[in-house]
Amino acid sequence: MQNSVARSIDRYGVVGHPVAHSRSPMIHAMFAAATGQNLVYDRYDLAPDDFTREVGAFFAAGGRGLNVTVPHKETAARLADELTPRARLAGAVNTLARLDDGRILGDNTDGAGLMADLHRLGCDITDKRVLILGAGGATRGILGPLRDRRPAELIVANRTAERARELAGHSGCVYEALATRKDLPFDVVIHATSLGLEGKVPAVTAKIVGPGTFAYDLGYGKPETPFTRWATEHGAGRVAQGIGMLVEQAAESFLLWRGLRPDTTAAHRAVIA
Ligand code: NAP
Repeated sequence: MQNSVARSIDRYGVVGHPVAHSRSPMIHAMFAAATGQNLVYDRYDLAPDDFTREVGAFFAAGGRGLNVTVPHKETAARLADELTPRARLAGAVNTLARLDDGRILGDNTDGAGLMADLHRLGCDITDKRVLILGAGGATRGILGPLRDRRPAELIVANRTAERARELAGHSGCVYEALATRKDLPFDVVIHATSLGLEGKVPAVTAKIVGPGTFAYDLGYGKPETPFTRWATEHGAGRVAQGIGMLVEQAAESFLLWRGLRPDTTAAHRAVIA
């Protein structure tokens, strides 16, 4: 990895395992072209055992910043010399940046990316009843920004109850507990488990969605995801998937690295084309 880092041009990239499918290089190339920034952005497939060593080498050789994806987000939080408050809250880092003094800053732009995408889609969660399915790293990143919008209710349901309760306190529960509620469906349901990667959806009552529900899947697929298909089949009024969040979290990373936030309109069109 370090051999590919030339010093003449600002170098960025995305680190994951696997990472071949990542749309981030295309998105950042569009942002760079649109804003006149001279940079390169590559993919780096690093196994967990190689992550810390290779990322250290990337920055030591002059690399400026990295996006971090599955399964490295928690390791990246430990590797960073300093965390932004939102990364500390999330306990996970999706953006690393080399500071002027050589130290590595860890940030988490997932929550800001989701909020920007919900705003773009005209979904205001203030005073709405919101359910999050899943209590992993992604939920840790989005929970604070969602709470800041003051929903009427914010429930986290997860396969493992302890993880849901650790994140959400008394409003954390297991999927089965939702079936006992009298006040279904929810206004907004956000799917944040990794089950979509296996073509599955959580084992949850279909009563969580109805004609007034906006169902948003953090995962993405063409033309739909297992969860958006499931939600549509069970009567959700509106569905969306996380490719828009991917574009918006990338714009937040770009802002951290380059000091300006690109217009995302063209990138949104390109990723769904
Ligand atoms: P993670 O930390 O590995 O968490 C996985 C979650 O899925 C946990 O809640 C886990 O429940 C649940 N889960 C896994 N297998 C399950 C099963 N068989 N049955 C029921 N629940 C199961 O993953 P993550 O980082 O939070 O990512 C979650 C999803 O969000 C991924 O699809 C990721 O690609 C997506 N994401 C998208 C964006 C974007 O920009 N669009 C950004 C971040 C993440 P337990 O706690 O019970 O194990």
